[in-house]
Amino acid sequence: VGVGDDAAVVRHDGRDVVVTTDVLVDGVHFVLRTCGGVAAARKAVAVNVSDLAATGARPRGCVAGVVLPQGTPFRLFDALARGFARAGRDFACPVVGGDTNVGPGPLVLSVAAFGDVGPRGPVLRSGARPGHVLSVTGRLGGSILGRHLSFRPRVAEGFVLGETGVARAMMDLSDGLAADLPRLCRASGVGARLFADRVPVHRDARRARGGKSPLERALSDGEDFELLVAHRRLSKAMRRTLARRGVVLHDVGEVVEGAGVTIVEDGRERVLRSRGYDHLRRARGRR
Ligand SMILES: [Mg+2]
Repeated sequence: VGVGDDAAVVRHDGRDVVVTTDVLVDGVHFVLRTCGGVAAARKAVAVNVSDLAATGARPRGCVAGVVLPQGTPFRLFDALARGFARAGRDFACPVVGGDTNVGPGPLVLSVAAFGDVGPRGPVLRSGARPGHVLSVTGRLGGSILGRHLSFRPRVAEGFVLGETGVARAMMDLSDGLAADLPRLCRASGVGARLFADRVPVHRDARRARGGKSPLERALSDGEDFELLVAHRRLSKAMRRTLARRGVVLHDVGEVVEGAGVTIVEDGRERVLRSRGYDHLRRARGRR
């Protein structure tokens, strides 16, 4: 599996190895001055682990590249090292190597993570079919209030959804449902219909300031790092099995024939414009 999914998949010695990488830049993906080195390093590992989760993979390890601004105090280096170590433990994804360099600034953290999948193989973005239900694993919007740093990647959920065969297509929500769902649809050659009253809005989406409504925030703030899943309608037994294994799915819509994404709000259906966090700095290469 090459470019265009949440992670690449390489067959090695008859086994699927899932590989992904993300590059984070101070001032773009975190603000070092306010969050500190520990949180920045944690996020750099967590976003990679989230991409592994999106394919149903379990993390096995990662490597980290760091470009320190000239004149970096030792305590920042120390904080980054502690953050990488803590994230490695928390997400069962130890940092097993890397490289450090010095540049003119800002701080850049580049992590590449690898993992493996169960016997059913990886879940890709391309398996959604008309009639499938679209679900997300948690509440959306307002991540800027802190969850964009402190989120827990949905590794256990992704693995269960892959292992049980429930997930036919899956990705993680890094840029917001309005930007990411069209990507899943394009990969699958399908369209989608969302229902506004079913979108699970996080309380942070109501607390965050700015001109957006809570629903708009849930659709477009981004950095939720919940999983978006296309699946067949669940039997009661399967719903119980998933619940027992800690997987909660919020049904937000359905896969339809054709192309494009619409949203039904107050009985009216309109085209959903993609207003997610889609800045050019990372949209092109974003996995
Ligand atoms: Mg992703």
